[in-house]
Amino acid sequence: MTIQIRADLHVHTTYSNDSFITPKELVFYAKKKGLNAVAVTDHDYWEGAVKIAKEVKDFLVIPGMEVSSSEGHIVALNIKKFIPQGLTAVETVEHIHNAGGVAIACHPYVYFKGCLRNAVCDVFDAIEVINARAFPFKSSVKKAMDAAEKFKLSQVAGTDAHYGPQIGFGYTIIDVEEATVEAVTKAIVAGHCQAHGQQVPIVLNVQQQIQRLKRMVKKTAAELS
Ligand SMILES: [Zn+2]
Ligand SMILES: [Zn+2]
Repeated sequence: MTIQIRADLHVHTTYSNDSFITPKELVFYAKKKGLNAVAVTDHDYWEGAVKIAKEVKDFLVIPGMEVSSSEGHIVALNIKKFIPQGLTAVETVEHIHNAGGVAIACHPYVYFKGCLRNAVCDVFDAIEVINARAFPFKSSVKKAMDAAEKFKLSQVAGTDAHYGPQIGFGYTIIDVEEATVEAVTKAIVAGHCQAHGQQVPIVLNVQQQIQRLKRMVKKTAAELS
């Protein structure tokens, strides 16, 4: 029997310094959005994702990380070891494959983020064609879809959430035989997946920035006292 997985494949937790999402919130908001899986992809940090995936019993957490390659960000899912930063895109993908993982070219054509642009090529397994926090949204989706066609890569989606209520605006539907991390990543490589989603409403990004300011004020106050 085929099981349909609905997963946000790009979420940062408090293990990324710039995110507010605690492991509890991760599962809470993912369930609230009707997802049945979520990937943890913290910036250049892997242990947190592994810990969360192990600790959460009633929800499928796909451990991963977002690697800062010298040519742009790359999401690695289901790796068995840490992937170092600063390597070229091709070298990074090689490391991901050697670690048994799936390499995703994330937000390849956006502004303000480490995006791969011309470094996208056929060594990747998939392209994140919808990044729900991408700017500019429409043109980046179009360019990423064109690249997926050109290089014959699977198409996935994620939110790049850093604040709980943002989770689930970008999600991937994946058809699997069993709801396991292995089955999900294999299905992505095989192309048994579809990207869905829409742009995160501006109000949620503003709320995230307010949280960030509050935290800065609190930290400064603590330092002054
Ligand atoms: Zn990124
Ligand atoms: Zn990210």
